[in-house]
Amino acid sequence: MVVGESGLGKSTLVNSLFLTDLYPERQIPGAAEKIDKTVTIDASTVEIEERGVKLRLTVVDTPGYGDAINNSDCFKPIIKYIDEQYERYLQDESGLNRRNIVDNRVHCCFYFISPTGHGLKPLDIEFMRALHHKVNVVPVIAKSDTLTKKEVWKLKNKIVGEIEENGISMYRIPDCDSDEDEDFKEQNKQIKESMPFAICGSSQLIEVKGRKVRGRLYPWGVVEVENPDHCDFIKLRSMLITHMQDLQEVTQDVHYENFRSEKLARSGGSKSRPPVKLKREESLETKMTEKDKILQEKEVELRRMQEMLAKMQQQMAQQGGSTVKTQNL
Ligand code: GDP
Repeated sequence: MVVGESGLGKSTLVNSLFLTDLYPERQIPGAAEKIDKTVTIDASTVEIEERGVKLRLTVVDTPGYGDAINNSDCFKPIIKYIDEQYERYLQDESGLNRRNIVDNRVHCCFYFISPTGHGLKPLDIEFMRALHHKVNVVPVIAKSDTLTKKEVWKLKNKIVGEIEENGISMYRIPDCDSDEDEDFKEQNKQIKESMPFAICGSSQLIEVKGRKVRGRLYPWGVVEVENPDHCDFIKLRSMLITHMQDLQEVTQDVHYENFRSEKLARSGGSKSRPPVKLKREESLETKMTEKDKILQEKEVELRRMQEMLAKMQQQMAQQGGSTVKTQNL
């Protein structure tokens, strides 16, 4: 899933990643139209191949995000979409055709951060806060070719600090096994250190020194999308391919489990009739009441005995008093 304000280069990045033109007939609404437009969800299927492995992915775009004057509700349709996919999976999982479930859950959400601000905007924080327990959030700095190396470094540090301060947990890349080869370990380390990825995208092929590269041509030179010295595009793509399985596992074990248990809790709590109890809990309750009854009876008996004792003491005191008197006489 790609989320971010309009114009941050989401479609261009998706096209650069999957080498397709996902949205050939896309119509971009004008400012006046955007005022009353809500966020829409746009899902398309693409196929990518990396090192001989073919992957069929569904890319979900969220046009309209952050476009309105008041954006306080703009991530609701996104949450709804994510929950709907979990819901559908839950139904399929409990149905008869469990072997052929099509998994449309969102396994990764690239969140686009503007390169022009001084870190995260309130909307960015609110969005990530609302979604980090639902989906693997991978923040990316959009259009990083508009920043110098030093500015990228500064912005990355600021974003990481703000993410921590706000208790947001972005997707954490797993550590390598100790028996992995050194090159892979080094590549993984670099991917980890580069987050949030500073990326740029382009839908154009440009010739540079006899090579055709995907890039952006400026009067002062060419920004090569797949050049690791120019941006983190390659790292982002490697992350997606290398850790696709982990993204799926975290979705299954953490986010989907959260959804399931929350749903169970909600369906349990919303019933108006008294909740159905487990047999063993009921017998425990019966045992407790029997115990209480015995205790109550014992208490009554104890009180009676205490009263009797008090009476006897009183009588003895009276008798003792007369003895003293007799002695005095
Ligand atoms: P979306 O609304 O987020 O899908 O953004 P688009 O992909 O349609 O891009 C909006 C504009 O930004 C277009 O003019 C793109 O050519 C331009 N753009 C896209 N990616 C980049 C980038 O990495 N760097 C720069 N400088 N411009 C970009």
